[in-house]
Amino acid sequence: MTLHEADVLVVGAGPVGLTTAMDLQARGARVVIAEIRRYAEPPSVKCNHVAARTMERFRTLGVAQKLRHAGLPADYPNDVVFRTSVCGAELTRIPIPGRAERYTSKEGPDTGGRRRSRRTASTRSTSNRSCWNTPRACRA
Ligand SMILES: Cc1cc2nc3c(=O)[nH]c(=O)nc-3n(C[C@H](O)[C@H](O)[C@H](O)COP(=O)(O)OP(=O)(O)OC[C@H]3O[C@@H](n4cnc5c(N)ncnc54)[C@H](O)[C@@H]3O)c2cc1C
Repeated sequence: MTLHEADVLVVGAGPVGLTTAMDLQARGARVVIAEIRRYAEPPSVKCNHVAARTMERFRTLGVAQKLRHAGLPADYPNDVVFRTSVCGAELTRIPIPGRAERYTSKEGPDTGGRRRSRRTASTRSTSNRSCWNTPRACRA
């Protein structure tokens, strides 16, 4: 589509521009996005958490699951580790399971509506440590 055929020109393909463009397109508008980055040049990474309200918008636009799967692998733990230095001795660790182990509800809109018993949930969270370990060079 050329610029002259478009109803709306969105400048900037960041999260705001892309979400606006998807929203407008879902409402029937013809949208063109202009981005200063070169073709296929990735944006600088600056997001580790997406807020619940933002996920509601992504769910409405039908991209919530795609977005979830674009993040870290489901079994990748998010542990917080305190060390004497980056590769120094580990002092303590706050275990934060990967998202596969973190869901407390299996009945929400993004969970596929599968039920999981409490027993299964607690057994998995203690016994199923993922294969994503701390890099060898950083082990105490
Ligand atoms: C280190 C860091 C961590 C962050 N972590 C989180 C987080 O975990 N969760 C969260 O929700 N938010 C986080 N944020 C904030 C979030 O990244 C911003 O709120 C968000 O990127 C803003 O989106 P935007 O589309 O307005 O702007 P941007 O993401 O800055 O996108 C603007 C786009 O416009 C393009 N552009 C600029 N000028 C022009 C031009 N003249 N013509 C065409 N294109 C142009 C740029 O190349 C860019 O692609 C973080 C920010 C930083 C810096």
